[in-house]
Amino acid sequence: MKVIKTIKEMKEFSSRVRGAGKTIAFVPTMGSFHEGHLSLMREGRKKGDLLVVSLFVNPTQFAPHEDFKNYPRDFEKDSRMAEEAGTDILFAPEADEMYPSDHQTLVLVERVTRNLCGRSRPTHFRGVATVVMMLFEIVMPHMAFFGEKDYQQLITIRRMVRDLHMSVEVVGMPTVRETDGLAMSSRNTYLLPKERSAARSLYRSLQRAKELLQKREQRASRILDEMKEILQAEPLVRMDYVQICDADTLQDVDRIEGDVVIALAAYLGKTRLIDNLVYRNL
Ligand code: AMP
Repeated sequence: MKVIKTIKEMKEFSSRVRGAGKTIAFVPTMGSFHEGHLSLMREGRKKGDLLVVSLFVNPTQFAPHEDFKNYPRDFEKDSRMAEEAGTDILFAPEADEMYPSDHQTLVLVERVTRNLCGRSRPTHFRGVATVVMMLFEIVMPHMAFFGEKDYQQLITIRRMVRDLHMSVEVVGMPTVRETDGLAMSSRNTYLLPKERSAARSLYRSLQRAKELLQKREQRASRILDEMKEILQAEPLVRMDYVQICDADTLQDVDRIEGDVVIALAAYLGKTRLIDNLVYRNL
């Protein structure tokens, strides 16, 4: 595996690979790797001739009060893990190269970013869309892999690619979980043992929603009430939102008829966790 630090070198590399008729698979990340990241890398490894992973903690997707400074960073460990997963190039640029001081362009994806996490993180998705747009331009991938764990992010990137007529295939990958169901996340390392234990209720509430859907419950309010009951039974869980939305538009639904995403965000202490379940109505 080769580590590339500069945009110029990354572009030159990708141009050569493309010129040789080879396909580039790409996994954008903020590092602190766990099995969720590795599942994306392994799929990329299978699907592309070359696998590029980017490691960049993107400042513009964090609000000033959020955890940008404390976000877990371990370059040595991440390099080893990426290499073992079959990464050819680890692209790890510096923030001031990605965002020089006169940077002033942002990518704004409108409707799908307003609901769910967009309510409490109004500037988050424009930071995500902007950095992913830049990374696509620099890495020039044929396909890019994103986790369903960050479902609104996946939908936002799909929307951006479609709306801007970009030529990259966006591939969504299932959420990888701990054995007790908690969705893997770099932020799980922030959890105190008591909070880690209480965090299991997030997955439990989603499982309850799934049971109700399988029993053909169509009233969103009934499902949401039961989920909230499960979450509220845990004093350490402070709900941000629990919502049922159309799986494509991310607008709330009252009756469940088409494909939906049941999405939630909750604080455990200072740590904000998200999770979701996509339910396809066949
Ligand atoms: P991050 O480093 O947290 O920005 O995540 C990089 C990529 O890994 C994103 O596409 C995430 O959706 C994906 N990802 C993070 N956690 C998981 C997980 N538990 N399962 C699957 N993909 C994940």
